[in-house]
Amino acid sequence: MTDHIKGVLTVEGLATQTLPLVLDSPHSGIDYPSDFVHAADPQELRHAEDTHVHDLWRGALSHGAVLLHAHFPRSYVDANRAPDDMDPDQIMGTYPLPLNPTIKSTLGIGLCWTRKPPEGSPLYARKLTADEVYHRVTRYHRPYQTRLRQLLDDAHSKWHSVWHVNCHSMQEVASAMSTQDRGTPRPDFVLGDLDGAACAGDVTQKVYEFLIARGYSVAINDPYKGMELIRANGDPAQGRHSLQIEVNRKLYMNETTREPNDGYDDLKSTFTELSQHLAQFVTATLKGQKT
Ligand SMILES: [Zn+2]
Repeated sequence: MTDHIKGVLTVEGLATQTLPLVLDSPHSGIDYPSDFVHAADPQELRHAEDTHVHDLWRGALSHGAVLLHAHFPRSYVDANRAPDDMDPDQIMGTYPLPLNPTIKSTLGIGLCWTRKPPEGSPLYARKLTADEVYHRVTRYHRPYQTRLRQLLDDAHSKWHSVWHVNCHSMQEVASAMSTQDRGTPRPDFVLGDLDGAACAGDVTQKVYEFLIARGYSVAINDPYKGMELIRANGDPAQGRHSLQIEVNRKLYMNETTREPNDGYDDLKSTFTELSQHLAQFVTATLKGQKT
């Protein structure tokens, strides 16, 4: 499989990978496809992005990890949703694949978003067509999810275990599109492991303790337990550990301009050190498995 698909995805670090440590950033893409015809203010729509997240984590490459990131924006098609998370009522025409909408679709933030930040008003002045949704799934969504799975499978077959960090960022306070009450402040970090279903507790605990020791506020599985990418790929009993890490955007950028703020470099250093910490944990765990 290719490690770069223009406008879709890039994989970095395969040539220097020394550990079964795979990071992915599904929402930091800023390449808006020309067929993304919507009714939103382009700058407002950018509130959906986890802008810069893949760059913040890039220091992990120097500790033997690989990093996959999407180039397409989340508001176009969301790589962290199941491919069937769309309501048939949101699509014009007959969609050729089965659909199973979740609460995210009801909120307008399913597979293809139908509502726009920050207030959740309609993203389109029309319905998406079945062809449009199918194109987004086959050209963008599926290649991303497939490439991630392959990176995890390759590492798992070589090392018999794999650790996956699913990297995101969140708004400083809950917006009208959140499942939380609007204005609810978020901590610095939220770690999500689907209440332990996606990741062994010692991994979550390691990350939690690392961040707490550096003075950050950290919550676990509240309000974010994790979504599709850790649900589909985490299976602790099989040595597959997937942890979602959400960082508060106030720590690294101005949410209006999307420009890095004074905290950017410090946060990037924190992620590089956290990656080193995780790499040491992975190395020790692999050694323990051999004895
Ligand atoms: Zn995200």
